[in-house]
Amino acid sequence: MTTNPGPAVRSTVHGYPRIGPDRELKRAEESYWKGATTAAELEKVASDLRLDVYARLRAAGIDDIPSNTFSYYDQVLDTAVLFGLLPARFEDPTEAGDADGRLRRYFAAARGVQGAPPLEMTKWFDTNYHYLVPELSPDVRPRPVGDKPVVEFREALDAGHRTRPVLVGPLTFLLLSKAADDAPEGWSPIALLDDLVDAYASVLADLRAAGAEEVQLDEPILATDEGRAALGELERAYTRLGGLDDRPRILVSTYFGSIGADALRVLKESPVEAVGLDFVTDDEGIADLTAVSGLGSTRLVAGVIEGRNVWRADIPSAVATLGTLLALTDELTVSTSCSLLHVPIDLEAETSQAPELRAALAFAEQKTREVALLGRVLSEGGEGEYDIDATAPGAAFVDARVRARLEALGPDAYERPEDRGAPTDLPLTTTTIGSFPQTGELRRARAAHRRGELAEEEYKAILRSEIDRVIALQEDIGLDVLVHGEPERNDMVQYFAERLEGYATTDHGWVQSYGSRCVRPPILFGDVSRPAPMTVEWITYAQSRTAKPVKGMLTGPVTMLAWSFVRTDQPLGETARQVALALRDEVADLERAGIRHIQVDEAALRESLPLREERRREYLDWAVGSFRLATSGVSPSTTVHTHMCYSEFGLIVGGIEALDADVTSVEAARSRMELVEDLGRRGFKRGIGPGVYDIHSPRVPSVEEIEASLRLAVSHIDAGGLWVNPDCGLKTRGYEEAEQALRNMVEAARRVRADL
Ligand code: GLN
Ligand code: ZN
Repeated sequence: MTTNPGPAVRSTVHGYPRIGPDRELKRAEESYWKGATTAAELEKVASDLRLDVYARLRAAGIDDIPSNTFSYYDQVLDTAVLFGLLPARFEDPTEAGDADGRLRRYFAAARGVQGAPPLEMTKWFDTNYHYLVPELSPDVRPRPVGDKPVVEFREALDAGHRTRPVLVGPLTFLLLSKAADDAPEGWSPIALLDDLVDAYASVLADLRAAGAEEVQLDEPILATDEGRAALGELERAYTRLGGLDDRPRILVSTYFGSIGADALRVLKESPVEAVGLDFVTDDEGIADLTAVSGLGSTRLVAGVIEGRNVWRADIPSAVATLGTLLALTDELTVSTSCSLLHVPIDLEAETSQAPELRAALAFAEQKTREVALLGRVLSEGGEGEYDIDATAPGAAFVDARVRARLEALGPDAYERPEDRGAPTDLPLTTTTIGSFPQTGELRRARAAHRRGELAEEEYKAILRSEIDRVIALQEDIGLDVLVHGEPERNDMVQYFAERLEGYATTDHGWVQSYGSRCVRPPILFGDVSRPAPMTVEWITYAQSRTAKPVKGMLTGPVTMLAWSFVRTDQPLGETARQVALALRDEVADLERAGIRHIQVDEAALRESLPLREERRREYLDWAVGSFRLATSGVSPSTTVHTHMCYSEFGLIVGGIEALDADVTSVEAARSRMELVEDLGRRGFKRGIGPGVYDIHSPRVPSVEEIEASLRLAVSHIDAGGLWVNPDCGLKTRGYEEAEQALRNMVEAARRVRADL
């Protein structure tokens, strides 16, 4: 027990949720978009939300408060706007340069307007947040035209908070951008680095003039292979920024994994004052620090509280980590592992979880208190008082039966017979991905049922009549393998989470997915099992309405994990196997009920791929193993389908083959069926359904277009293994377009079949 006061350890967070405790930002934006409120009204809501965040962080005892972590839509888009890097198509000459005009242009880039499609949206690293991808070309000139960071800094200062403005760093910004369509072949945005860094220099000077003492430049790209390979650029950027005369202190912040000793050495030797590292995502951070002999006089901002999961911290173990880190740096700040953007705001808003689960949870508000507590404990000499106990998350939620069942499985539980014949005798079998349009009526019925205003039997009757209509429509269109349309599902993960033991859902646990869109990820807290069949009632009902085969629809283990908050007390692969076992039971029940086609969606297989290549093998092993566990209990004559979104097929094609599904449907329309050539070359031996049209667009594809895609496909792949389907589920479309598109698809398949 030491009584000496420790070094002055400070506390901070990388960022905080911006949507508001009651999704105020979503409501304000949607009302502004509809024209129901003015730009000034929207700005007032935004300003109140920002000030509320500063006050919350202050109240939690956080020493150093970040600003400019607010965004109306996305921080990468904000950065593009700050430096005048929006494509010209969003320019509107008739538009006033006032707040309203600026906001309109901003939202046009985010959401698109007539004649100007929005910027592409994609996943922010391996989170479920999406950013907008800047489009750059050699003739753009980054210039510091925006003033958002300065305005928000001043606003906070007026309210009594001298904050640390946060910006996406130049390296991350450029490596996440893409070359515009008109950029020369082979040109990449990183070529703009020096000009962009000059523009950053000017923003730093403005912030300094406004009174900022420190800025944070986020460089999470350093956690990826691509970022780790850009050391020359990293050095150039930060030597230049660090060398400016009149500037705030610079914190280069990294997260979503360790950055490796080489990048760390570059940062240590560059003239920046502080470096932020993540000590939660993997356990290499300390080894990296040791390899560079510590940070010396560069301040370490140590991410020791998990920023993107919902478990309470193990405080004694965090104290121990910080103790080790204190020997590797002269100055230390305690922080979260990344921005708290990725977790819900306040556990206090929840009332329905079991007390044992609640005791294991921490949302953003609780995490800021953990960070502040660690700061105090360390400052007081390393062994201060704290009353948070050390229950390991999930430890209380073991189900011995689940474990025994998994233990008892032999290798044959993961294998189907190699030779099991062709899934159908029809070439170019037509089908869909699962969901049909979700009408307003259906959504209203679900909401009323949830509120207890619509009795179970009445609700079920509505679902059955929806299934009747979807089946009749598919028969009329002439599809071969039908679906029930998924009318009973609010969401492909939440629906199952609500029916599995070991999973909890939240009432207010909203997290920003993109723009104003928020999701409420379920929480996978304990051993998973299936108390009762989850989908059999609906699929068998659908099958009873038609002589054609109806395909059962389930969500696979990887996707069930990817779109949830998952326990961390055991390897993900182990948790995935538990989910797989529950799905295996469902698959068996479907088969027993006479269902001959069963689809297990792995929409998230590609997006869950680890950021660094050296971790991908292990991931694919458990991802593939759990899929096979879920599906290989069926007889050889049952057709197992899977579906994947995203077409960057090359990265995971080996994994897809290893899933050993009889039929894989995959997004292909936006990449113009490129993958069929690949698959042909590889001699892919199971069925494949490259999506023949893009369901993300409201445009109805013509018969000729689809026919051309199919002819291209049959020139590379054997027609017997080729399936014909859209590239994803139809739930976001209207009936009118969906029906016409499917009719055209069936006609195109008929024409191509006739010529075989
Ligand atoms: N079966 C799901 C659907 O059709 C698949 C959704 C998805 O791939 N994201 O809606
Ligand atoms: Zn999909």
